[in-house]
Amino acid sequence: MSAGATFVRADLHVHTFPDNDPEGAPDLQAYVDTALAREVSVLGITDHNTIRRVREAMKAAKGKPLLVLPGVEISTHEGHLLALFGPANLNALEAFANPDKLKLVRVSDTEQRSSRSLLDLVDEIARVGGLAIPAHFDAADGINEKLQPSALADLLRHSGLAGLEFAKSEALKEWFTDSDPNPHRRTAWKARQAVDELRERGLWRGVFKHRLHQCVSGSTESAPPSSGTRLTISTPR
Ligand SMILES: [Zn+2]
Ligand SMILES: [Zn+2]
Repeated sequence: MSAGATFVRADLHVHTFPDNDPEGAPDLQAYVDTALAREVSVLGITDHNTIRRVREAMKAAKGKPLLVLPGVEISTHEGHLLALFGPANLNALEAFANPDKLKLVRVSDTEQRSSRSLLDLVDEIARVGGLAIPAHFDAADGINEKLQPSALADLLRHSGLAGLEFAKSEALKEWFTDSDPNPHRRTAWKARQAVDELRERGLWRGVFKHRLHQCVSGSTESAPPSSGTRLTISTPR
């Protein structure tokens, strides 16, 4: 008997090559096999500022019980933002995630950044049918710290915001509750609840990361800014 909702194990933040090896191409079949062995049934492919391996990843999962969501992780001056699309909406991702559109600027040998604002990107992702999810929201020097209080409030209120990824589950104990120690976040969260009463609280508080990347490929170790942000498992509370 169904209780209504169905939960699946999903990893919505996967890098397929390390930042220090932009031409790198670890075997995506191994990603698919590892995901299946770990009973992950949804995989979001989110390399930094590029979608060059998305089609290949979708192909590697063809015929397998694994849904690959095409996506990208955009680096901005305000932090990192995941954009995920449905497989049938790949064209929208391809139109959105081109270097000119993202206004990518090189900031070092291995790093590019979009010169667009986080909110501008969230706007567009939602408009073209994608899911906008700020990455490692709670990380030191992450979005939560970088955004000005007013921009943070705008982000949390934004109707296009599909969720937040947390680097650590500890933050979830207090953040976005009535006892949130940050007054701006607490106020923004209350505003969010007021404008979005139908949204499940679980969407916000049930997303956290899990370190599984070692079992996928050592060669992707350096892709994210911190080692814990590569794989994301969403679980019900
Ligand atoms: Zn990131
Ligand atoms: Zn990442």
